[in-house]
Amino acid sequence: MGINLSKVSLNYFKSKKDIEYAIKDIDLSISNKDEFITIVGHTGSGKSTLVQALNALLTISSGDVAINFRENEKEIYYHIDANGRKIKYSLSKGEDKIKYKKRVELKPLRRHIGLVFQFPEYQIFEETVLKDIMFGPKNFLKDEKKAEEEARKIATMMEIDSILEKSPFSLSGGQMRKVAIAGILASNPDILVLDEPTVGLDPIAKRELLEFLKKLNEEEHKTIIIITHDMDVVSNYAKRVIVLNKGVLKFDGSKDELFRNEDVISNNNLSYPSSVRMLMELSKKLNIDFDIYKYTNEEVFQEIKEKLGESYE
Ligand code: ADP
Ligand code: MG
Repeated sequence: MGINLSKVSLNYFKSKKDIEYAIKDIDLSISNKDEFITIVGHTGSGKSTLVQALNALLTISSGDVAINFRENEKEIYYHIDANGRKIKYSLSKGEDKIKYKKRVELKPLRRHIGLVFQFPEYQIFEETVLKDIMFGPKNFLKDEKKAEEEARKIATMMEIDSILEKSPFSLSGGQMRKVAIAGILASNPDILVLDEPTVGLDPIAKRELLEFLKKLNEEEHKTIIIITHDMDVVSNYAKRVIVLNKGVLKFDGSKDELFRNEDVISNNNLSYPSSVRMLMELSKKLNIDFDIYKYTNEEVFQEIKEKLGESYE
């Protein structure tokens, strides 16, 4: 279950000549459980385009997007191909006949794949935080009371329950972003996609948000997909990294494989995380052969302790 992209390309300008693809021939499989993916790449490399193709917000130019999830004991399948042709079919338990639908409602799909745009706080418009968080689930559930329950539950989880009656516009930037993310989460998506969620946040708000996403991934088994420029976010949180360059998928693997592959790093203008850079520097300055591929503070500390211990013995 999850999302499958095969040979997906998208160009914004449909004219025949000078076709410039924002993303080109992307093959990608994402499970709707337990993944923590970061997408990296230079500005203009197609990251935002790719994530909008994942839940059919953008119409692809060629290829095929297949999405499959479970809802009310049913397996729901979507196929979205070029020119916006959409097919939906569902298969209930014990059923072997597939029901096709040509005119397709994409709402359930958008609910399962929640997309948080860059600077989501600009899309806040309700008069109280509670109303804003309720907006999505009210739309999906068509039940005001249930929507409020969901909103209150997620607000407690995100520790913003004390500000539910306030105006969203009286909040700090970090709090506003939390409210915007809570609004998407209140619809209970399996997959949560966030486009550069830490940009503009102070270090404390940034850490808090990332730790919250980590918890969602570990405890609720949600798949988290983050677009980021920050290699420290990659090194501290990613289980899987996707590298885009000029619309082409250049790498799909673990962070350790990525950082050990100098060619991928330099060919795609990426940088190393601060832990690796520090150990590189220390190796040079102290002339000690540190294993530089350490990512968390604890790993770095252990490595330094171990190697310095040896050299002083
Ligand atoms: P990233 O998120 O990695 O910075 P984008 O997906 O925003 O990259 O952009 C990929 C390419 O598509 C860029 O060349 C960009 O100029 C172009 N592009 C993005 N959005 C649009 C749009 N709405 N209309 C036309 N071109 C766009
Ligand atoms: Mg972008």
